[in-house]
Amino acid sequence: MHIITTVQEMQQIAGELRASGKKVGFVPTMGYLHEGHLTLLRQAKKENDIVMLSIFVNPLQFGPNEDLDRYPRDIERDERLAREVEVDYLFYPSVEEMYPTDRTTNVEVVKRTDVLCGKQRPGHFAGVVTVLMKLFNITMPNRAYFGMKDAQQVAVIEGFVDDYNIPVTIVPVEIVREEDGLARSSRNIYLSERERQEAPHLYKSLCMAKERIVKGERNPKNITSFIKEYIETNTHGVVDYADLYAYPNLTEVEKISGRMIIAIAVKFENARLIDNITLTVE
Ligand code: AMP
Repeated sequence: MHIITTVQEMQQIAGELRASGKKVGFVPTMGYLHEGHLTLLRQAKKENDIVMLSIFVNPLQFGPNEDLDRYPRDIERDERLAREVEVDYLFYPSVEEMYPTDRTTNVEVVKRTDVLCGKQRPGHFAGVVTVLMKLFNITMPNRAYFGMKDAQQVAVIEGFVDDYNIPVTIVPVEIVREEDGLARSSRNIYLSERERQEAPHLYKSLCMAKERIVKGERNPKNITSFIKEYIETNTHGVVDYADLYAYPNLTEVEKISGRMIIAIAVKFENARLIDNITLTVE
């Protein structure tokens, strides 16, 4: 595995790979790798000649009161895991390397962002697409892999790649979970023992909500109020949001039909967890 820390070197290698006709699969992450990231990397390995992984905790996508400084990092462990899944290139730039001067432009997000995490985290998705514009230009991948754990992110990125005709195929990957259903996340380490025991109720509430829809419930409000009540009864977490929208447009629906997402965010003492399910209702 080659470890590259400068934009210039990464871009030169990426250009040579493109010219040689090799297919490049790219997995952008913020590191502290877990089974979710490794699943994306394994799929990229299967579907491409070369796998590139980036590890970069992007300051632009963190709000002033968020966890940028205490975001977990362990580059040695990440390197070892990346080698295990046979990553070919690890791009690991510093903040100064990625953002050397004051910016002249930022990419703005005008849709799919005023709901769910976008509403709670103003500027977050602008930060995500701005860093991706850079990362795509630096790594020039044929395919880029993103987890449905961050389903709103996938919806925003798909719109972004379409809007700017970026020559990369976005590949969404299903959510990877612990055995008890908790979605894998770098932030799960912040849960107390009691919170960790309660956390599987998030996914449970989504499964029960889905079951209600399968049985005929078509009113979104009944679904979201059921989820809120279930989580607040069964955990010590506070529900930030529990919402149901059309997917990927993330518009409100009066009646449940077509492709939908049910998404939740729950605040525990030291961690805010998100989860979702997408489903199609005829
Ligand atoms: P992050 O390092 O948290 O920015 O995540 C990097 C990529 O891994 C994003 O595309 C995430 O959606 C994806 N990811 C994180 N956790 C999971 C998970 N449990 N299952 C699937 N993908 C995930």
